[in-house]
Formats: sequence, structure tokens, C-alpha cells
Amino acid sequence: MGDRVNRVRGVRDILPEETHLWRFVEWIVHAVMSTYGYQEIRTPVFELTELFERGIGLETDIVNKEMYTFTDKGGKSLTLRPELTAPVIRAYIQNHLDRDTPITRLYYMDSLYRQERPQKGRLRQFSQFGVEAIGSPHAEQDVEVIALAYDLCSLFESQGLSVRLNTIGSPEVRGDYLQRLRKAFEPYAGELGELDQQRVKNNPLRLFDSKNPETQALLDQHAPLISDYISDEDRLHFEEVMAGLEALGIPFEHDAKLVRGLDYYTRTTFEVTSEQLGAQDALCGGGRYDGLVAQLGGPDTPAVGFAAGLERLLLVAEDRLKEKLSPRQLDVYLVVLTDEARIPALSCAQQLRTAGYTVVLETLRRSARSQLREANRSGARAAVILGEEEVKKEICTVKRMDTGEQVEVPLTQLADRFDDIFPKD
Ligand code: AMP
Repeated sequence: MGDRVNRVRGVRDILPEETHLWRFVEWIVHAVMSTYGYQEIRTPVFELTELFERGIGLETDIVNKEMYTFTDKGGKSLTLRPELTAPVIRAYIQNHLDRDTPITRLYYMDSLYRQERPQKGRLRQFSQFGVEAIGSPHAEQDVEVIALAYDLCSLFESQGLSVRLNTIGSPEVRGDYLQRLRKAFEPYAGELGELDQQRVKNNPLRLFDSKNPETQALLDQHAPLISDYISDEDRLHFEEVMAGLEALGIPFEHDAKLVRGLDYYTRTTFEVTSEQLGAQDALCGGGRYDGLVAQLGGPDTPAVGFAAGLERLLLVAEDRLKEKLSPRQLDVYLVVLTDEARIPALSCAQQLRTAGYTVVLETLRRSARSQLREANRSGARAAVILGEEEVKKEICTVKRMDTGEQVEVPLTQLADRFDDIFPKD
């Protein structure tokens, strides 16, 4: 036997005992998205590296440190998608989705890849669902997106949920603010790590993403707040967003330090957080990105969106979901006792499946005792038994596993009779 090959660090297997929870959560996401009029889009797992460099920004953690980038045989630099906004916007532009309507509401649910340091709630392959609402510059669009994120999260987590909200203004005022932020930090540059020093020089807004506690302390003491530098229009937009959230009864707090780790945001940034999650407390994050469509070569179009991590949502909801949901129960274990019964057993299984029952058929040719033990272990509601006698008489024996009761049923009537023995809910 060869050596065992294990999975790589930072990824996980989702085993049969969990997949039914995943499917339930995915089903809820699809259902809620469609009540808001969002349509699903699926993009390729890899894209040209340039898409993320231009879309996310060069000084961001994702592009600097976390991308899985490789060169293909044609010499092109490709990257496994580390986020989905840039790919969705690329697809929106390339497929001219703006042709029929000035407003496009898209959602996705897919896997992402980031070479981060693995820890609880932080993986190297993980799944996100999210939306991109492309076309409206107005506050009610921001409110719709935040409400959708909040609604979805609250279906899985009823307590300890809150929205952190900020505005980082529009790019026109950003230059002035960044100058001031850089100036405020220059005297302390020597106290910073190499990466943060680079951030001061190239993109000081990214200092807020720093995981270094000293940098965060310096930010608390010395950083000017971006919301003090925004324009009157930016402020009005922010006030309208807050008024909308208040009207919907969505609890939020203004977090003036929330800038989020991507370069493309304009005005609104937000996160939905859960008290249950500890250090990695963001279930979902998003904001407005009015410049991205044009930056990626499309028409100048405003947009707003969010992304939520499925693994984190499952972390907070798992216990409750496990109590409520169980994997679909097997209806029938088909016990096959002789060589002659094998073909009729295949037809029986087929007949029952066509009628909508879940059926597993013995394929190990085990003894009658082992097969009945297996039927018990499998949790099936009934064992359908085919032996020499049954084949001769063209019947089968149906044994209820709960009571042990047995009845003989003609093979041709099996599905119909099964409906009587086990009425469907
Ligand atoms: P981001 O795309 O970084 O704004 O993250 C949006 C959401 O995706 C977060 O709030 C998390 O729920 C989830 N997420 C981000 N990174 C990871 C990761 N490495 N592992 C698991 N979930 C993640």
C-alpha cells in the first residue's frame, strides 16, 4: 500500500454528516436572494491575475500576500479567485448585462481561495455568498443591500447580531485625507513593522487593516477620522443610509475606523458581526464601490454589494441547525437472499425510486443475518426482502423495522402498497 496523501493545510472536507446542513443554508440563501429580486451568477474559478491587481488594489493584504497565483503553459499569470466582486463585475461588463436595464442585481455563492494563516473561521478555501447591485448611486440601494445581509444573517443567528457602519467618502476628498493620515503617521514610522511602513508610503488607508496592535493603538491616538473629511454630498448620503436602517429597525453603530480591506470602496462600508464569533467576528462585509466598473473597463456605473462567509455562518448556526435537521431517512433497505433474486431486486429498487422512495440495495452478497443487521443500522423504515420463495411467487416481503411486522406484496404492486404502509407526509 502506498503512503497516505492528506489534504493540504487550511482546507477542509465537508463530510456526509454535515452536507445536509450546508444544503439547507444554501437553499435559504437562494430563497431569500430571490425574494429581493437578485439573480444568480457563476464565474470561473480562475481569472487573469491582472483582474485582482486592478480590482482589489496592490497594497491590500489579499493581493500582496494571499493570492494563489500560477503561470499556465501559455505563460499567462492566472489567480484562483480570492474574492468575487471583481470577477462578477468583469462578467457584467464582458457580457453587457447593462444592455437591457440600467440596474442589475446579481448574487453568487461559490468557493474562494486565500493563502491566509489558518485558524478558527479562517480557511484557505472557503465559501461566500454575496450580492452586487449595479446601477444606482442612491442611499436606498445601500439600505437594500445592508438589509438583505442583515436579514440573511438573522435567519441563522437570532442574538448578538449587529451592523457596523461607516462612510469613507468619495475618492475626490480621499486625497486630502490620505495626505493628513500620512503626515500624522510619519513621526511614528520607525515604530511600525515593515509592511505598515510601506502602507504609510503607498496607501495609508490600509493601515486600518493592520493586525499589529501597536499600529492600531497609534491609529486610535493619532489618526484623523475619514468621516471628518467627507463632502456634504457624502454626508447626506450617509445620513440617508442611517435613516433607512432606522426605519427598518436594523440596529447599527457608526464605527469611524471601519474602512475594510479592499481599495475599491467609496462612501458606505459595513460589516454584520456576531458576538459568538470571537476574534474573527465578521459574518459579512461590504460597501459601495462606485469606481470599480469604470476601473475595470466598463461604463461609469455605481454599485454596492456585500459578501458573507458560509463557514462562519455555519459556525454560529450549526448546533441549532443540527437539532432541527437530520439527513434524509432511508425508506428501504433491499435484502437479496439468493442468486435468482438479484435481477428482480434491481427492478424493485427502480420501481420504488421512481415513486420517490429512497432505496439502498444489498451489493455485498452477505448472509441474511448481516443484511438485516445492515438494514437496521442504515435507519431504513423497511426492509424489502427477496428470497427463493418470493421470486417463485413473484412477491416480496416488506418488513417494518419499527414494529417487526411483515407483509407479502406482489412485485408489480410494490410502490402502490408501499404508499399504504408508509403514507407520505
Ligand atoms: P472579505 O471578502 O474579506 O470582505 O470577507 C467577507 C466575509 O467572508 C467575512 O466576513 C467572512 O465571513 C468570510 N471570510 C473571509 N475570509 C475568510 C477565510 N479565510 N475563511 C473563512 N471565511 C472567510
